[in-house]
Amino acid sequence: MTSRTQDLEALAEEIEARLPGRVRRRVPFATLTTYRLGGPIGVLAEVHSDEELLEVARITREVRPRMLVIGRGSNLLVADRGFDGLALVLTGDLESVEVSEGIVLAGSATPLPVLARRVAALGRAGLEFYVGIPGSVGGAVAMNAGGHGHSTAEVLVRAWTVDLLGEAQLVERPQRSLALGYRESALRRSEVVVAAEFGVSVDDPEACQARLEEIVRWRRTHQPGGANAGSVFRNPEGDSAGRLIDACGLKGLRIGGALVSAKHANFIQAEAGATAADLRALVLEVQRRVLDQTGIRLEPELRMVGFEETPEGEPARR
Ligand SMILES: Cc1cc2nc3c(=O)[nH]c(=O)nc-3n(C[C@H](O)[C@H](O)[C@H](O)COP(=O)(O)OP(=O)(O)OC[C@H]3O[C@@H](n4cnc5c(N)ncnc54)[C@H](O)[C@@H]3O)c2cc1C
Repeated sequence: MTSRTQDLEALAEEIEARLPGRVRRRVPFATLTTYRLGGPIGVLAEVHSDEELLEVARITREVRPRMLVIGRGSNLLVADRGFDGLALVLTGDLESVEVSEGIVLAGSATPLPVLARRVAALGRAGLEFYVGIPGSVGGAVAMNAGGHGHSTAEVLVRAWTVDLLGEAQLVERPQRSLALGYRESALRRSEVVVAAEFGVSVDDPEACQARLEEIVRWRRTHQPGGANAGSVFRNPEGDSAGRLIDACGLKGLRIGGALVSAKHANFIQAEAGATAADLRALVLEVQRRVLDQTGIRLEPELRMVGFEETPEGEPARR
């Protein structure tokens, strides 16, 4: 056993002692991401409440392992060799939605489509755009998820976070302290979103429902199904990554089991037999060809984890 493996095992045992039954070892990342790719996770801990997260934080702030929070895994590409650290999955009490007149309080593990539908059914407008984004509330805050002309920054009032390397306490974060930008936030890798408060307005439930259904219809028409992680690249200023990739003739480009979608050029599909290495190679190849042909460097929106070097364009703070 290497000393890193021993350290991870000691960490797993320590977490297990405080959160019995919540720790698993060598779980394949492929079971936790929409790409259905990625090798084993050293230690995976399931956290069911903010108290449990604080228990984990009391350990991690001392041990300082490599860490990753996984939401719904809908924006993650993890290397085939996996992730040799501690990954956290939030669930249980952290999946919750409370609706009052102008405010929605949601636990970070809540799937965005569930949030959108519950809120709309109660006649509250503003979160309909989440119905087509298969992430979690925590992932939406971390990524400033958005679509259909709206973004998390527009609706988020505040979030509550725990810094796994900090004081092991729940911290209230007003929206402006999160510096939400285009598909990014100022959250550090060690900061975990526990809950979020959104501002909504009262509306007719049927009108909210109609907007939801329109978004679902639009997505079915314009986006491919199958294993993908949504848009791979950010849109460059004043243009669309999909349009550029298409204009470069890259729809249908393939490396191994990875394929640039014919339906939406900014989606890269993982077909049966694909590896994370195939995906990663195709992301870099698309980036290279668009740069050669247009002079524009597309930056990945996709979070890539566990690969050798930092890919061009990956947010440096992560
Ligand atoms: C079919 C499809 C369509 C999509 N369409 C859109 C779209 O229209 N707009 C859009 O913005 N995105 C879209 N996405 C991408 C993705 O759904 C969003 O980025 C989403 O916000 C990611 O949430 P997640 O919970 O899956 O996060 P993950 O993919 O699990 O993680 C993404 C990042 O968020 C961090 N994170 C996750 N949870 C937390 C937490 N609780 N606390 C702190 N950090 C956390 C992770 O560590 C990681 O860095 C799409 C994806 C798919 C598969």
